[in-house]
Amino acid sequence: MSKSAIATAANSGLGFYSSPLVEPETPKISPLISQSIKLENIDTIGSGNTPRLVYQTSAGRCSRLVSKADFARIWSCFLSIRGVKHSRILEINITDHSLIIQTNQGTVAVDKNQAKMFLSRYNRVALEPLQVRLIPQGAVVWNPDHHTLSLVKSGGCTCEDWRYRQTICKHQIAAQLCQMPSD
Ligand SMILES: [Zn+2]
Repeated sequence: MSKSAIATAANSGLGFYSSPLVEPETPKISPLISQSIKLENIDTIGSGNTPRLVYQTSAGRCSRLVSKADFARIWSCFLSIRGVKHSRILEINITDHSLIIQTNQGTVAVDKNQAKMFLSRYNRVALEPLQVRLIPQGAVVWNPDHHTLSLVKSGGCTCEDWRYRQTICKHQIAAQLCQMPSD
């Protein structure tokens, strides 16, 4: 950790980051796309309504299909961060403007733009080696590439994405993934 990161940690009460009692872990998910992406659309294809991501890279427009199981796992992560109680996702319908997520405990609509931002960040979590330490208050997330430390608590994070833009950030996603059972 750099000196400035340690100072930041001390100032924000993150001294417990260095606790030797908690081993950091890195969320083990496969990237949806193996580079940072700008998602253009989420739609479905075929009679089976397989989810499809349409995105831009420097090489132009590309797309890829996502299995329904992987797609459900992604949105289960999203709902858990948002505090939506559920134990299972039954179905996800993708419309022009939103994702309609049916769970065993009710239905939630997610605005398409919000869904696209979440998926882009979810993909970044798979690409960046974020280190998560779960603590009683939530989680401390260290980004070794950017030398930043973020504290995730229920309903928020100390990073700029959350404080100024109120968008679910990669730290919240990483912390949530470390608490979800792997299958
Ligand atoms: Zn954050």
